[in-house]
Amino acid sequence: MLYNYSKFLSFLDEKLNGFFESQKPFICCKEGCCKCCENAEFPFTKIEFDYLMLGYVSLDEKTRLQITKKINELKEQKKNSKEKIFTHSCPFLINERCSVYNYRGIVCRTFGLMAFRKGAKSTIPFCANIGLNYSKIFDKDKKTISSKLLAESGIKTDPLVFNIDYAFLISDEYAKNFNLKFDVPKPLLERLN
Ligand code: SF4
Ligand code: SF4
Repeated sequence: MLYNYSKFLSFLDEKLNGFFESQKPFICCKEGCCKCCENAEFPFTKIEFDYLMLGYVSLDEKTRLQITKKINELKEQKKNSKEKIFTHSCPFLINERCSVYNYRGIVCRTFGLMAFRKGAKSTIPFCANIGLNYSKIFDKDKKTISSKLLAESGIKTDPLVFNIDYAFLISDEYAKNFNLKFDVPKPLLERLN
């Protein structure tokens, strides 16, 4: 199953690389930018989590200990939290870098692009609000992409929405092409129990 999943990831990465490349004028992602890893629940299916763990066991002992310490602290914070949804910084984020980059989850790979959502409004990366991806053409008041700002920016590239919503990528419809079946995603911290 993990072999099929690694094939799935190679396919997905190739697609995503092309999508990021096509949106270059709007993209600010670079090594060391990690705002998208700092405040979420991070959904993981079992296969994604098992793959992530392969990355974890390949790390040096010092890094593994740092991660374990963070996980234990987060579990404690979650226990004392009154919030219905407990969002947090990802414990695998070490020195502002993903310590398990090649093994990161599906949702981590799609951060930064605009995603089509069936029956709902497409998602614009949250970091458009903080001067990062798509911020040049993002109308903060209307919370949408602005054709006026696009014209003023002089950028000749069209901002595109891609079919990369997490729910779609882990759906049976998509996964069957790789002989995969994803289970229901759970927040990362729950997987780490
Ligand atoms: S998606 Fe946004 S926050 Fe995340 S790396 Fe890219 S620019 Fe930075
Ligand atoms: S696994 Fe890596 S990329 Fe994904 S949220 Fe954690 S630190 Fe960020």
